[in-house]
Amino acid sequence: MSLAGWLGTGPLLAAAFEASWLPTGSAVPVAGILTGLTVGLDPGHGGFDPGVLVGKGTPGQIRECDINLAISLRLRVLLERAGARVVMSRTGDVDLAQKGEGSVEDLTRRAELVTDAGADLFLSIHCNSFPQAVWRGSQTFYTADGPPGSDLLAWLVQEELARVTRETDRSPDGRQELFILKKITVPAVIIEVGFLSNPRDRALLQNPDYQQLLCLAILFGICRFVHHAPVGPA
Ligand SMILES: [Zn+2]
Repeated sequence: MSLAGWLGTGPLLAAAFEASWLPTGSAVPVAGILTGLTVGLDPGHGGFDPGVLVGKGTPGQIRECDINLAISLRLRVLLERAGARVVMSRTGDVDLAQKGEGSVEDLTRRAELVTDAGADLFLSIHCNSFPQAVWRGSQTFYTADGPPGSDLLAWLVQEELARVTRETDRSPDGRQELFILKKITVPAVIIEVGFLSNPRDRALLQNPDYQQLLCLAILFGICRFVHHAPVGPA
């Protein structure tokens, strides 16, 4: 089904907005709102590539790949509850590279996997990191000259992240050339759900309730996107 086929279900969308204010764990009254949509969902890193490591080599080591996967698996449940079909690039601690290959092949296969599965849009979940610990907050990235609609998807997801989590004041960023997004032809974003280099973000990102809140925000951003809701405060 094309994205245009999603127009015209205002009351359901209103229900989704209301749901954003429910306590974490509440049943989300959005059953069927995404029926017919296929979402490509990529938990960043995995396998040979753990992504950002905090406390490397210590018993309390935190690996970005694990947090990306935990959040993605939660998001899959919500998306499926809303009626979407979800195609994941990985569901375990694996990469898609073959022997002797590296990140280029891994990322290329992830893009091919969701493209071949007929994804209508693509999300890649990552955690950010920066040398200075002060920086924090979730941020959505897109490629400005990438697939049409990516900027709108990024803005709507970012608005919902700000509104639902109240833990970010960042704006979407379309300045960067992002390899995997260049391989995708449908609206595509990378969601950096927070900074593992910041103590508050790091604690939040390991908290199941906060992970669920992030997923609700992303779900509502997608709902608004597929229903062509206008950008701006609801
Ligand atoms: Zn990453």
